[in-house]
Amino acid sequence: MDNYKEFKEYLEEIFSKEDLPVDEIKIRQFYKYYLLLVDWNQRMNLTGITEMKDVVVKHFLDSVILTKYFRFKNGDKIGDVGTGAGFPGIPLAIMLPKCEFFLADALEKRIRFLNEVIKELELTNCTTAHGRAETIGRDPKYREQFNAVTTRAVASLPILLEYSSPLLKMGGSFFAYKGPAFEEELAASGKAQRELNLVAKDQVTFEISECDLGFRSILSFQKTGILKSKYPRREGLPGKKPIL
Ligand code: SAM
Repeated sequence: MDNYKEFKEYLEEIFSKEDLPVDEIKIRQFYKYYLLLVDWNQRMNLTGITEMKDVVVKHFLDSVILTKYFRFKNGDKIGDVGTGAGFPGIPLAIMLPKCEFFLADALEKRIRFLNEVIKELELTNCTTAHGRAETIGRDPKYREQFNAVTTRAVASLPILLEYSSPLLKMGGSFFAYKGPAFEEELAASGKAQRELNLVAKDQVTFEISECDLGFRSILSFQKTGILKSKYPRREGLPGKKPIL
């Protein structure tokens, strides 16, 4: 219980500095998630970040800070592609209980972990799928079904645009979590933006001094047209031959 007290005080302090409101239910969910992450990480490779304060800042805060800069509506469907151990999808699902989250990853063992997290945290707004973005984006169950798609630490921008556009409804938003040096990637993504009907909108860069997280950026794109049926290309091709 002492550990919970320390965790709660730290998370409240860090989140309140960024004007991110959390109640007791959410804090308990974050704590359970932290315990599961550290426990399962002993048996499978989920994260290199395990110290409590680092997890709060580098995984939890870094994931949810999207909600400080961008607004979501109740009922919005949000897909997190290449979610890994659940970032940013699970922390966002805790913060936005009235949005529906879909978490996908190419590695089955990570999906097994996420299903356990969803059960233990009693998250009723999350579903998962094991699969690559290229295949999920062709499945009518998922194609053009989402108001927003997120990705963190998955691939470079031209590749990410091909992963996310198939999932987005017309007018939907793609959010790419990046470091501060995104300009080069953004400049290289012009052709992919045009080809995939995803137009660059806002870019926010902010600094988080705790735990030396430093400067982080979130880039947003908006889907402005129907996607050509040839996208996404077959598994592996967006990475091997990005649209440049
Ligand atoms: N988003 C998480 C985070 O920020 O901690 C995980 C990042 S991890 C470096 C990249 C993840 O993307 C891995 O779990 C990998 O399996 C997944 N991934 C890479 N390419 C993918 C694809 N084409 N479709 C689905 N998942 C993919």
